[in-house]
Amino acid sequence: MPTHESPVDVLIIGTGVSGLIAARELQSACRSVLLLDKGRGLGGRLASRRMGAATFDHGAQFITSRDVRFEKILNQGAEAGMMTEWCRGFSAEADGHTRWRGQPTMTAVAKYLAQGLEIRMEKQVVALRRAGGRYSVETNTGEFYSAAAVLLTPPVPQSLALLAAGEIELEPAMRTRLEGIQYERCLAVMAVLQGPSLIPPPGGLVPTSGPVSWMADNQLKGISAEPAVTIHANHEFSLAHWDEDRMESGRLLLNAAQPWLGAEVLSYQVHGWRYSKPLQVDAEPCALLQTSPPLVIAGDAFAGPRVEGAALSGMAASEMLLSHLSQS
Ligand SMILES: Cc1cc2nc3c(=O)[nH]c(=O)nc-3n(C[C@H](O)[C@H](O)[C@H](O)COP(=O)(O)OP(=O)(O)OC[C@H]3O[C@@H](n4cnc5c(N)ncnc54)[C@H](O)[C@@H]3O)c2cc1C
Repeated sequence: MPTHESPVDVLIIGTGVSGLIAARELQSACRSVLLLDKGRGLGGRLASRRMGAATFDHGAQFITSRDVRFEKILNQGAEAGMMTEWCRGFSAEADGHTRWRGQPTMTAVAKYLAQGLEIRMEKQVVALRRAGGRYSVETNTGEFYSAAAVLLTPPVPQSLALLAAGEIELEPAMRTRLEGIQYERCLAVMAVLQGPSLIPPPGGLVPTSGPVSWMADNQLKGISAEPAVTIHANHEFSLAHWDEDRMESGRLLLNAAQPWLGAEVLSYQVHGWRYSKPLQVDAEPCALLQTSPPLVIAGDAFAGPRVEGAALSGMAASEMLLSHLSQS
């Protein structure tokens, strides 16, 4: 099959945090890397949207860090002006731990991490095949990419589908381990308000009952010129209403969020996250699926259901790939 571009050492599927961090580490170890993503914008679940003069973070809301390596990356991003501290907690008993946000929005974090990397967007991978001693990756537009090694970072069920499409067999124990990883769903409402919301500063709130699991005031957060709230539904509500009309589900959530809205809703949109956060986290920070040629799977399902977990999984995956590439 003709390849679309020059073969690379490592092809990374996904430009979420895990893929971007792995790519940076591999590239700094002098490996050639190419990232492919099906989306139009970088960052995966780091996502932002504009509605007129209103701006929303509608995926990950903030970033926390306990690992010194990840903390260093966040500090460098802050020095570059692309991340900043949002706050140190949301309730009256704030815990003093920094919540970072992107500057101006969460997608700036992905843009910062992507600097200097080779990336092709709007390339949906449909199959991954072994071709001689390498991998061949096929996209929905009929292009083929060749690589000495591959890193899969989509949510685990999506990665398993790519392996099945390319007839790559997994060891039964590994298959069972990966098939056991499932994800929460999340319906996210973005609403433009006529006036300020009743969410208290610094702009984040976790209701103790009802279908709303999180609310954020994007104006108080410092990212929106106009009053704009993000509302996340819990897994139970999102699953129960997944196949229903999105605007109707959004209306139900706006009703549930009414005590904190405080102003008329001028307009709203709804986004569905099918793979919001993993319900199970694997015991290892990434997994080796094939040794020769190396094939590794990573993402937040391996090192923790948050941005930091995705970053640590990306770091572990790059180390694993480097060690196996040097042996092959
Ligand atoms: C609503 C919501 C709120 C959250 N809140 C927080 C929070 O406040 N703090 C926090 O730390 N974490 C939060 N998280 C979790 C956090 O966003 C994730 O843990 C992290 O971003 C996952 O990164 P990742 O690289 O593992 O995966 P992803 O970001 O999902 O990246 C995977 C990428 O693979 C791409 N892809 C998938 N299939 C294909 C294909 N076939 N071909 C090409 N590309 C493909 C996708 O387009 C995507 O860009 C939240 C998540 C959601 C959805």
